[in-house]
Amino acid sequence: MSAKSLELLHHLFGYDHFRGHQEAIINSAEAGMDTLVLMPTGGGKSICYQISGLLREGLTIVVSPLIALMQDQVSALLQIGVQAAFLNSSLSPSAQREVLKNIANGTTRILYIAPERLVQPYTLQQFQNITLSLIAIDEAHCVSQWGHDFRQDYLSLNRLKDTFPGVPRMALTATATSISRKEIALRLELTDPEVFISSFDRPNIRYLVKTKTDARSQLKIFLSGHHGESGIVYCLSRNKVDKTAEWLRKQGFNALPYHAGLSQEARSVNQAKFLREDAVIMVATIAFGMGIDKPDVRFVAHLDLPKSVESYYQETGRAGRDGKPAEAWMVYGLQDVVHLSKMVDQSDADELFKRREKQKLEALLGWCETTQCRRQALLAYFDEKLETSCGNCDICLTPPKLWDATITAQKLLSCIYRSGQRFGTAHVIDILEGKQTEKVIQNNHHGLSTFGLGKDLNHQQWRSVIRQLLVQEFLIADHERYGALRLTEKSRPLLRSEIQLNLREELNEPRPTSRSQSRSRSEVKRDILLSQSEQMLLIELKSCRRQLAEAQNVPPYVIFHDATLTEMAKDKPKNNEALLSINGIGETKLNRYGEAFLGVIDKFHRETQAESYPPGQE
Ligand code: ADP
Ligand code: ZN
Repeated sequence: MSAKSLELLHHLFGYDHFRGHQEAIINSAEAGMDTLVLMPTGGGKSICYQISGLLREGLTIVVSPLIALMQDQVSALLQIGVQAAFLNSSLSPSAQREVLKNIANGTTRILYIAPERLVQPYTLQQFQNITLSLIAIDEAHCVSQWGHDFRQDYLSLNRLKDTFPGVPRMALTATATSISRKEIALRLELTDPEVFISSFDRPNIRYLVKTKTDARSQLKIFLSGHHGESGIVYCLSRNKVDKTAEWLRKQGFNALPYHAGLSQEARSVNQAKFLREDAVIMVATIAFGMGIDKPDVRFVAHLDLPKSVESYYQETGRAGRDGKPAEAWMVYGLQDVVHLSKMVDQSDADELFKRREKQKLEALLGWCETTQCRRQALLAYFDEKLETSCGNCDICLTPPKLWDATITAQKLLSCIYRSGQRFGTAHVIDILEGKQTEKVIQNNHHGLSTFGLGKDLNHQQWRSVIRQLLVQEFLIADHERYGALRLTEKSRPLLRSEIQLNLREELNEPRPTSRSQSRSRSEVKRDILLSQSEQMLLIELKSCRRQLAEAQNVPPYVIFHDATLTEMAKDKPKNNEALLSINGIGETKLNRYGEAFLGVIDKFHRETQAESYPPGQE
């Protein structure tokens, strides 16, 4: 059984061995079992259903929610010589007929289709008389109503069970919580599924979380460490996306906006640029990203907090799919904390939903404020235990200093209490700092015993203290009363000195991060080091790839990934056999492109030889 699957892996994809659970998953699906595959982004889910499907007789149907993505997946399969097609509303009626014809006559082996299309009675009818090898349901978490990507049409996919009895189904997702696992199996009505759960660790992603001081200049400093690289900058609102993109362009970055308020056309144009050109920064709302399988996104930056730890994991997971070092960077501040919980409070949702959203947000804030390894804390959220701290997050790299803030917190809490628990952050800090503002005088707060008691801390530090107390629930901000700060149950023991409170020191220094810093975990793929002349060769190889990609109107990585070209520049293969030993080159791509790339390498050899042996010196 496995010999055949390994052969396909080698022959089609040009890879030497399966990763993680891939082989077990394929064996199980090939044997006709239903499977549930949980694997992080970049883990290699596509190969699981592609090879499983090809090993069995008949057509493989892949349900995918993203029309934009189908095209690239199909292009990538055609590149390696697998007959694939997609069916969606972007095709003309005659193109659709052509696709259906090729399905009926058995030419097409893998078909991508949107859920809303598949569950139409007419479509289901069309597949009745066709042998199906496998039905893969990608992004299967879309079936969960609690999740962030819920799609109504996914709920109807349970019909596939009775409509196509005996056809194994494979549900795949990169969403990890145990609640969603159960929900997926249940709602899709998988039959006794074999469940494969991979580690959700993304060791190549470095997590960096900073306190927001001046978000734009912090971002600029961060980006200065990412020259010439592609990345995503997430913002909460459309307006902020537009403004940030514009500002970045003025700063000389190739930044483009993406949000649901742009026309369909503008969105596709910007997305295509991001996929096809080098070093494009996409400034986007969360409308952008699901299913973006660009392998070389080198960073994901958050200028605003996401909604939950899970959203954060998903969004940052778009970085570094190729396994090479990437960075997830975020700034957050007191304003975000207040703003987001206000948004939840003021939404029209029912109380239960609001409560859940609030809890999710609090879990995220707790994570932001954590003083232990971020990766350990992140994985713990997905019930996964990482034994040692990671050495590749801000906490591990520069451990935060803790200070005894018991007395400081007592000053703050009693100031809030004495002023009647009716005022917001700014006013409370004014009292502590002893500022005689109009509002202070009006309310006679310069007469309070806490007036001027907090001069030992600056404004920024007070905000940090308040933020940490909010996150740890020693305080709440009452949104019905314009964010007035109030004490909680937890405040009392703190005021009475029954507990000691340690807070993290505010670090104000946004430094550019150097990616050459120690990366202790062995799983991170090392960058292959190229000599100067090899780097020149790499540039030539990339240019060759660009020409080939443009001629076929596909993204460059569909031809070869950067990693493949880098290996080529290092090894400088001279013939087909040597080319085949490079990762990512299978038979079909060898036949198609071998000559072109060998030509580039040959030219390089001749030129460098000519340089080292100038005429007359031989
Ligand atoms: P996912 O869908 O899980 O996010 P993909 O299927 O896009 O991940 O795979 C991520 C990358 O890993 C792709 O570039 C793919 O070609 C590569 N890959 C997958 N399986 C293997 C393997 N066994 N060996 C080497 N590379 C692999
Ligand atoms: Zn760490």
